Amino acid sequence: MKRLSVLAGLMLAGAISLMAAHQQTQRAPVSLDIQNVKENLYVITGGGGNTGVFITEKGVVVVDTKNPGMGPSILEKVKSVTQKPVTMIINTHTHGDHTGSNSAFTGAVEFIAHENCKASMEKMPAFQSDEGKKFLPGKTYKTKLSVLNGKDKIDLYHFGPGHTSGDTFVVFSGLKAMHTGDLFPGRMTPFIDTTNGGDAIEYPSTLMKAAAGIRGVETIIPGHSSVTTWSAFKEYGEFMRDLVAAVKQAKNEGKTADQAIENLKLPERYKDYNLGRLKDDVTKIHAGLK
Ligand SMILES: [Zn+2]
Repeated sequence: MKRLSVLAGLMLAGAISLMAAHQQTQRAPVSLDIQNVKENLYVITGGGGNTGVFITEKGVVVVDTKNPGMGPSILEKVKSVTQKPVTMIINTHTHGDHTGSNSAFTGAVEFIAHENCKASMEKMPAFQSDEGKKFLPGKTYKTKLSVLNGKDKIDLYHFGPGHTSGDTFVVFSGLKAMHTGDLFPGRMTPFIDTTNGGDAIEYPSTLMKAAAGIRGVETIIPGHSSVTTWSAFKEYGEFMRDLVAAVKQAKNEGKTADQAIENLKLPERYKDYNLGRLKDDVTKIHAGLK
């Protein structure tokens, strides 16, 4: 009996130390930061994509929910600027660093996204259980959708494939501000997610259509990186246009994707861009060109 209880004690001690180690990895610090963008509009950075926080008459609209496990931290940041409850979540696209903490937003919350985004989300393990399905978009649209009214009005636009097949531009029209999702991640080469319908060749025209079709926006919250201007967003369409054109020219000259990367020359004005994904992007553009 005694030997058994010593053994049980040892096993218990082992289990406790394992649990402690596990809790420590769970608590790996991810610090979020909230910044004011315009009156009633904030951005929460860290822990995934940029999260937009728009305080309306009826409640708080949250655009994108970061990586899984970020829900309590997002809510804590929201509570630091308003007492109002979160009533609406807009997902700009399917990726886990933009939809990962949808399940933290329980209660009377409406979830909205593009119809192709919803179709992609339905394939993600997090949204397949009966519980997970509650956090899928309940409202979807095809090309344009307006929600709320007056100074709270939000216009959602879809101009075609790019980063994925279900990307949304979220325009806070009363504030002349827009959350672009990852179609505009910041001044960097994009991730083109062809498995979720992203399209290297259509990417520039989708951005150009947005720049031509959306009016009156001055301030941009990109999918990642710092808040910027409409002109930086407009330039990004030109960057992607010039990137695709450069690869097209190389392919026309008989160059392989690798040779196109080696000899690629982009206009001087893009010299500050982070070209970390250049190889992947050029390969996808090269393969996509007829
Ligand atoms: Zn993304």
